[in-house]
Amino acid sequence: MFTSVVPGRSGVQRARLRTLLEREQALFLSRNPGSAGAYAHADSLFGRVPMTWMNKTSAHFPIYLDTARGAHVTDIDGHEYVDFSLGDTGSMAGHSPSPVVEAVRRRVEDLGGLAVMLPTEQADVAGAHLASRFGLPRWSFSLTATDANRWAIRLARAVTGRQKILFNSYCYHGSVDESLIVTSPDGEGAPRPGNVGAPVPVTETSRVAEFNDLDGLERELAHGDVAAVLMEPALTNIGIVLPEPGYLDGVRELTRRFGALFILDETHTFCAGPGGATRAWNLDPDMITIGKAIGGGIPAGAYGLSVELADRLLNREDLDLVDMGGVGGTLAGNALSIAAVCATLGEVLTDRAFDHMHALAERFETGVAEVIARHRLPWSVTRLGARVEYRFADPAPRTGTEAAAVHDQELDDYLHTYLANRGILMTPFHNMALMSPATTREDVDLHTRLFAEAVADLVTSGPVPSAP
Ligand code: PMP
Repeated sequence: MFTSVVPGRSGVQRARLRTLLEREQALFLSRNPGSAGAYAHADSLFGRVPMTWMNKTSAHFPIYLDTARGAHVTDIDGHEYVDFSLGDTGSMAGHSPSPVVEAVRRRVEDLGGLAVMLPTEQADVAGAHLASRFGLPRWSFSLTATDANRWAIRLARAVTGRQKILFNSYCYHGSVDESLIVTSPDGEGAPRPGNVGAPVPVTETSRVAEFNDLDGLERELAHGDVAAVLMEPALTNIGIVLPEPGYLDGVRELTRRFGALFILDETHTFCAGPGGATRAWNLDPDMITIGKAIGGGIPAGAYGLSVELADRLLNREDLDLVDMGGVGGTLAGNALSIAAVCATLGEVLTDRAFDHMHALAERFETGVAEVIARHRLPWSVTRLGARVEYRFADPAPRTGTEAAAVHDQELDDYLHTYLANRGILMTPFHNMALMSPATTREDVDLHTRLFAEAVADLVTSGPVPSAP
């Protein structure tokens, strides 16, 4: 077999890639008449989907969910998939794990009380789970990671009396206005392209520094107006960008020196271990925010703070923490979410489960690395605990801006559609795969085999083979 790697974008022949993408999209269309029909008929929905992001597909319409159990999903056309997307981390515990199903059933059927706005005793157990895993002793609940971030930001402003929040370029922390900032080519802060309906120019509320750039961070913090640095310990929303040695310690030192809080968003980096990257890498943040996986699929988010920070806030009589001051929500901390968090953290995402997930992620990474090496492609693969990502650059990018620059939509679409047509779901946003406690070696090996075949079709010279 002759392999042709071409210099330039992603090392692939663009014309061949386009032909293969068309082949796969045609196959997708013919395999999924039920999903195509459901999409065509959904006239009551804004953008034909219940939430506009569900239009992020590699082949014109999404597949429609029928059932999901463990690491597997079936669609309404009867196809079964190994799900490496896991609801973009919302189902990192696997789909409908039995302890969560039983906890939900008990709350709904036996006990009742879905929207009561009264605490349950179990909430303290959920808080204690989070405290023992992530090290911060005081916790409060939201329904989403977005809200956990919004509320953490408000608290940080209140306690420091400063206005701005600093983010990494091309970060993602939910639909949080302040965070939709990137570094422009001249090094200044600029709105993230496509930002919808910003209330004010983002540089009025925010500052930006590149991930892995302590000098840039110091320059921005030196203005003295930053209430908090809110960041992921590793970027995971523009591909995975890992911290270089000493970077996160440097952020901790600089935030202390300049009087800013250090807030870690562990929503995705929870995949690094039972206590997220905070415990795995021995980090020392002032606050932690999290969502998605902690509820085992039931909406739940949370933020944690130190005793000292919690007491300072609770002692401030000018802050309305118990009514409409901006840090709570009617359904937040509800009995059902709390029951789901207790079951997920107590019985599903255990230390043993993480060992299994990490071993599988290593296997996934090795399989992908071998294919990349076999064809001498200028691609790389990165692992963060139970999460693996391949991307079309080697070495892997060091910053969010570098990562954004190597994005290749056509290549993403080809690989996603190829895999979906043969029973694998990747996260729709990039080439990210997450392992759950229910994922198996067979699931991983199926991906390795199909990835190898998709890449072989792409780099082999000669006529493009027709789809099976
Ligand atoms: N923080 C991080 C790091 C995320 O990746 C996301 C979502 N991808 C969020 C926050 C927001 O989560 P949600 O949409 O569930 O509020």
